[in-house]
Amino acid sequence: MEFYNCYALDYDSARDAFLRIAANTGASLTHYLHPTHQGPQGQDLYVDVAYYGSVSASRKLIVLSATHGLEGLSGSAAQLAWMQGEGPKTLPEDVAVVMVHAINPWGFAHLSRTTENNVDLNRNFIDHGQAPANPAYEQLHPLVLFDSWTKQNIVAAQQAMDDFAQKHGSDALFDALARGQYSRADGLNYGGSQREWSNLVLEEIVQNHLLGAEKVAFIDWHTGVGEYGEPFFLCFNEEGGALFEQAAGWWGDARIKGQRPHGKARPNYQGLLFHGVQQFLGDTPMCGAVIEFGTRGWHMRRMLRLDLWLKFKADPGSPAYAMLQTDLLDSFCPFDQIWRDSTIQHAQEITAQAVQGLAAW
Ligand SMILES: [Zn+2]
Repeated sequence: MEFYNCYALDYDSARDAFLRIAANTGASLTHYLHPTHQGPQGQDLYVDVAYYGSVSASRKLIVLSATHGLEGLSGSAAQLAWMQGEGPKTLPEDVAVVMVHAINPWGFAHLSRTTENNVDLNRNFIDHGQAPANPAYEQLHPLVLFDSWTKQNIVAAQQAMDDFAQKHGSDALFDALARGQYSRADGLNYGGSQREWSNLVLEEIVQNHLLGAEKVAFIDWHTGVGEYGEPFFLCFNEEGGALFEQAAGWWGDARIKGQRPHGKARPNYQGLLFHGVQQFLGDTPMCGAVIEFGTRGWHMRRMLRLDLWLKFKADPGSPAYAMLQTDLLDSFCPFDQIWRDSTIQHAQEITAQAVQGLAAW
């Protein structure tokens, strides 16, 4: 399989390829139009669902791309890799695969990690009446967004963060920055003040395409954590529980157990999409993982700040803008063929493992 048959350069061409290949490989398609927002050229934005297999299948695998918008360039390719391979042709009788393309289409089309409201969709699935506090983030927030993107400002912010890590530990720094916060709408990993459109539409997708299943498997494709071009698994089933062991059985103990993103303790992530789907499913058991492909390691923390800066501080007409946006894109989805070949190969294998595991569950 050639990487250029899986990877696209933007949301529109990724969507076109997804619809064409889904139609050619026997999937049934459903489209969910964003009611209020458009892409950068004024084009309509959709979440598209390709359903493979019998409607009455008792086991269903849901696979998502673009929870973090621009990571969808890789997630979409991961989906297309399975769709164009042997997967659809060899689907076990009682298993269905539900491919959800671009769950955050605004972020994908605008090449931002967040939704149209600067919300990290993967922190949005909480009870917004009781949003958890993140006091450590409050201390760090002034360092996160500065007026001009200069080396001097970047180094100064980094120094202040290093000081925080010196005092409280680097695990505490990572947790404060990454767990999610609900107080600063122009901040990092902002979880929002209400359910995003993508959150509401995901509930509709679960109702329309997953209900009736007795067992559900889950893959949410991301990028930015792990070794370059290699998968990094974040399983959010209860550690040590039966579902956690199930995931380890599919993908291997070494990939599931004791994972430390960027070599640090796993942040106490709030409002994960994984938990949202679990809640929408009620009592139906679900097992699976967020699966990342590694890019620039710990340096990605700076790129999250660049994403914010481009949104709130940059002049889109300036020469620096296009340069920095290209760097942002390359940091989340490297243009490098070696990286792209590796990720589509892994994606095919990992998806096939989930299908086989689900069939045998
Ligand atoms: Zn992500």
